[in-house]
Amino acid sequence: MESRTLNAIRRLLAGLLLIAGSLLPAAASPVTLQSLEMGYNRLLLHFDRPFDRGNVHHFVLHGTGSFRYVFDLKNTRLGSRSLAKKLQYGPQIRSIRVAQYRRDTVRLVIETPEAYAIAHYPLKSDTYLIVLPKGSGGGPGSIRGLFASIGSKKTIAPGKTPTHKAVRHTTKSGKRKSNARKPAKSRLMKERPHSPHRRYRIIVDPGHGGHDTGALDPSRRYREKDAVLQIALRLRRHLKRMGFDVVMTRSSDRFIKLHRRTRYANIKHGDIFVSIHANAVGRLSRASVAHGIETYFLSPARSARARRVAAKENSVGFTKYYRNSMNTFLKTLTRSKIILSNKLALDVQRSILANLRSRYRGVEDGGVRPAPFWVLVGAEMPAILVETGYITHPWEKKRLFNPRYQDLEAKGIAEGIARYLRNRERELE
Ligand SMILES: [Zn+2]
Repeated sequence: MESRTLNAIRRLLAGLLLIAGSLLPAAASPVTLQSLEMGYNRLLLHFDRPFDRGNVHHFVLHGTGSFRYVFDLKNTRLGSRSLAKKLQYGPQIRSIRVAQYRRDTVRLVIETPEAYAIAHYPLKSDTYLIVLPKGSGGGPGSIRGLFASIGSKKTIAPGKTPTHKAVRHTTKSGKRKSNARKPAKSRLMKERPHSPHRRYRIIVDPGHGGHDTGALDPSRRYREKDAVLQIALRLRRHLKRMGFDVVMTRSSDRFIKLHRRTRYANIKHGDIFVSIHANAVGRLSRASVAHGIETYFLSPARSARARRVAAKENSVGFTKYYRNSMNTFLKTLTRSKIILSNKLALDVQRSILANLRSRYRGVEDGGVRPAPFWVLVGAEMPAILVETGYITHPWEKKRLFNPRYQDLEAKGIAEGIARYLRNRERELE
């Protein structure tokens, strides 16, 4: 009899405590995020006291070839800055970062190369669970911790022995580790964008090559494939100097099928895809008139002009089969994807013009346009195609082969890319 009463009281007290516990964090002093624990496919957040799930604000950012799952934990303090440092995870995760984002807000960012179905919920009153990509937590093939994962886009495939390249990369990221740790806060959270580029990989795609000469001037001495390769190699130099990781689809005079170029870009986990081309007019009567620089981004929308240029660049290897798959892909393009490529195109076009006009007169702004280019189809990252000038124009074709002009144009493209990425970073802050 007596023990039953006692039990009832005990239960009542426990219930009251639970209620008080769930009310307290929102009303009173912040809870402390004490530790992070990695499971096979989940991340556990341990708090010092009951944590109110109403304080979780979650959103996803995708745009630069990666997916960032952001969790803002309101009314929360970070127990230690190094919470995420000891975490181990596989290549399914690029990084997990945590920082005191605002005085009362802790920001946790999980960055992955591919999208996955995320879920999150309280496991216990003081433990919150976030689902991670399958198999990302520990196990063989996992790479170490927070900063080791920065720039580790060329991660070692699970089950594969590390190649020479991968080993070299490991030492490279070891070096980055010390650089990145210096401000004690991850760049995503605080650091101003001065050396942001090391994390990004740019795919540079010089158009045509080999038996595919691209556009020719009437004399056939000026060939698109040569001009664009030279500009692309200069672009690589500028990007590398800025700290970017650069991958070329071709760096010599060889032919590569269009669909292989974007597939390669996807395999290499590029953050940006930029295809370099030179323009031409169909009718010779217009050859002395048409000149200037145009930047295109992939979109199903099409103007007459965009259609004409796309038809020219699409002509190689553009069979009925590919036309069908292109149409399918275009239908899956989301509005947000199109907008990001559009923004990239705008930044690059603006920057090319500013650079060239600082030294040259008569640089025509051909504008930024949407177009259904086959080479941009299938890219899982913002993708643009730059028509660097008209190879059919009497003096512009000469500029296209002038080293100084090529270099300025390449610098313009590189700076445009950097500006675009800087703007995306700001959106994260
Ligand atoms: Zn071309």
